Amino acid sequence: MPGFEVIDKTEKKEILSIFNKGGGVLFRQGFENLRNNSFKVNKFEQEFKKKFNCKYALGVTSGTSALRIALACKKIGKGDEVITQSFTFVATVESIVESGAKPICTEIDSTLNMCVKDLKKKITKKTKAVIVVHMLGTAANLSEIKKICKKNNIILIEDTAWGIGAKYQKSFLGNFGDIGTYSFDFAKTLTTGEGGMIVFKKKSDYLLAKAWHDHGHENNPNFPRWEDTRKSSGFNYRMNELQGAVGIAQLKKFKKLFYIQTKNRNKIINKIKSIKDIVIRKKPKNSTEAPEALIFSFKTNKLSKKFRNKFLKKGYSTKILPEAITWHFSGKWSHIKELELKKNNNFKSSKKILDKCVAIPINYKMKKNFPDIVQKTIKEVI
Ligand SMILES: *Cc1c(COP(=O)(O)O)cnc(C)c1O
Repeated sequence: MPGFEVIDKTEKKEILSIFNKGGGVLFRQGFENLRNNSFKVNKFEQEFKKKFNCKYALGVTSGTSALRIALACKKIGKGDEVITQSFTFVATVESIVESGAKPICTEIDSTLNMCVKDLKKKITKKTKAVIVVHMLGTAANLSEIKKICKKNNIILIEDTAWGIGAKYQKSFLGNFGDIGTYSFDFAKTLTTGEGGMIVFKKKSDYLLAKAWHDHGHENNPNFPRWEDTRKSSGFNYRMNELQGAVGIAQLKKFKKLFYIQTKNRNKIINKIKSIKDIVIRKKPKNSTEAPEALIFSFKTNKLSKKFRNKFLKKGYSTKILPEAITWHFSGKWSHIKELELKKNNNFKSSKKILDKCVAIPINYKMKKNFPDIVQKTIKEVI
């Protein structure tokens, strides 16, 4: 959330510099005679890499396209299966459908992330990749999942749309698997309006993705763009300089954002952790969380709904849970026929867990009495 809360003159200045110094070039490459060495997307990628310790980074148009490109550079498509989880944003499954592969969802367990047991059950000879989601900022059980992927020769992609800045065993989320994807849409921790980033361990993956997201262009320095070399077809998911400029400004604020948001989240935790009838979501060992949300569960769905209604009446909103699972729970996606919901199942076990949960959005600019309001509302409900 907080990315948009802190937009100010820093973003404006970065954008204006494109027009003042950079000759108004909005394309991420080329036009060298006009741009005075101003490369915003490229600079954003370099600084992202530095900040989050990644080997290769590619700025793209959205978190959804980042996932689609990740599958493309691994040549995943028709006849393949890709496994993700029942609790995620619809984009994760859409990217698999767009690739031509068959989407398979696992149940979640009490961590609200991928159920490892169910993952083992759903792997077949056709499984080419697993897209694990660090849903709402808490890391998935990465070491177990990585072990399973390695054993079965499956690619591990991390949908890190909610996990930017959080760590698992000392590596930033997104860096643990083969490829990590991030979203900079307007509701995410960092925003460029719309946008995304992909990070890679292997140079060959990066180069294929870079070409694929640009119609197959290899940007061969020995040829002008119109005679450029190519080895594959592709698509257009290029980030533009305006987005790159905003990204540079947002990155400068990241450390402070993350710190303040974590502090705000902890204030709420301290207020509610001793309340007996709720359970706060646990994180895996040796991990830190992205402070985008705070999730706790009641004993029943009736209570979580009651909390939501009381909270709304006071003028506050919850975030995704319990109310917005329509867009975040695969059991509700009968409109995606590739999921074959009727034939498979409706993810009853995941739904049972999600129904009892409440997610509180954490803002950068939090009202001082907000933790008290959360505490008071919980107490009223139980
Ligand atoms: C936001 C989100 C995406 C998609 O990102 P966009 O930039 O909005 O396309 C993908 N996965 C998850 C889990 C998300 O929350």
